Amino acid sequence: MSELHAPSLATLRTAADDPVSYAQNWKDTHRRPVIGSFPMNFPSEIVHAAGALPVIVQESKTPITEGRSMLAEFYCGYTRSVADQAALGELDVFDGFVAADHCVQLLGAVDAIRYVRPEKPVHFAQFTSAMDDAWTKPRVDSRIGDLKTEIETVVGTAVTAEDLARSIGLFNANRRLLRRFYDLRRSGLIRITAGEMQLLVKSSMVMDIEEHTSVLETLLDRLVLRDQAPDDLVRLHLSGHFCHAPKPEILDVIEESGGLVVDDDLYTGYRYISTDVPESDDPLKALSTWYMQRNINAPCPTRVTSKVDWDTYLLNSLAESRSVGVVVLMAKFCEPHMLYYPELRKALEEHDVPSLLIETEHEGIPVETLRTKMETFIERIRRHSAPVPA
Ligand code: SF4
Repeated sequence: MSELHAPSLATLRTAADDPVSYAQNWKDTHRRPVIGSFPMNFPSEIVHAAGALPVIVQESKTPITEGRSMLAEFYCGYTRSVADQAALGELDVFDGFVAADHCVQLLGAVDAIRYVRPEKPVHFAQFTSAMDDAWTKPRVDSRIGDLKTEIETVVGTAVTAEDLARSIGLFNANRRLLRRFYDLRRSGLIRITAGEMQLLVKSSMVMDIEEHTSVLETLLDRLVLRDQAPDDLVRLHLSGHFCHAPKPEILDVIEESGGLVVDDDLYTGYRYISTDVPESDDPLKALSTWYMQRNINAPCPTRVTSKVDWDTYLLNSLAESRSVGVVVLMAKFCEPHMLYYPELRKALEEHDVPSLLIETEHEGIPVETLRTKMETFIERIRRHSAPVPA
């Protein structure tokens, strides 16, 4: 049974499970536009500052039908689902779409929206992915300026520095609260399942940020902490899975098999809330600083930087959370993840950290096969006496 306040969790679940209905209700109530954006580096604060609702478009649960012919079968589930939702008219609630980067497959999905809904404004701001070059920051500054101009045009509201600073403050407060849940989960003094943690983060991607923060505050107020952490479960870190949320049934099997997920670097997880925007005098420039710092706080294989790498970050995270195994969740056909994974696996093997790769598909994976794999993995860790990597 969940240790989190059930009515608050239900509010978050309603929005996370059906973001389009949430957006439609918000639009009907506020009479303001709703803007759809895509993972993984879009600064929602600009949309909020313009008085519109920013919503990160989520993968749909339904099978792909109308959109089947729009993208190749070897595109990831998220992009094929986005194309399908657009073809079915399920994204019509959005008054415009904005994307800030990044991979070829996502470009395909954005183009599919342009193709089936030519009347919708779609703005693509390609952030540079080489983070170390002298021209990186000025170029990102300029792209963020372009994003602001486009959003102002679509929403019909000029964004002032004060508006943006206020929105930045609200999103920072929300991220801080979410990170508090992460800290509590790592401590073991409250059991927050992987599915619940996903719900907390995913709902923040689609809900009005002030409403979301208020629900998080209620959840924190109602927490009952344990005296001590349980020591009979195998502490695990979930790694990978960009752009869309892993199916909750996969997360459930991981924990039903004896694992206790204590940390993650998933996009619909810690990666999303890893970094605050500096609350400085120039809020637009602060957004590009946020973009650069995100890759230091939670390195991403879609970015290139000489200062940090994902495998070192992962090993450090394991030490901090005292995780003894890693479950890598990889969305099938996710090219950036596939390209980086061998390096990640090598680093884990060199440090004697057990890991298990689970490839996920939009159409789902056989749960009982997964259960057998997970139970074997947990048993392997229990017999494995490796210390936490230094
Ligand atoms: S990064 Fe991976 S999951 Fe995201 S759109 Fe690209 S291929 Fe799909």
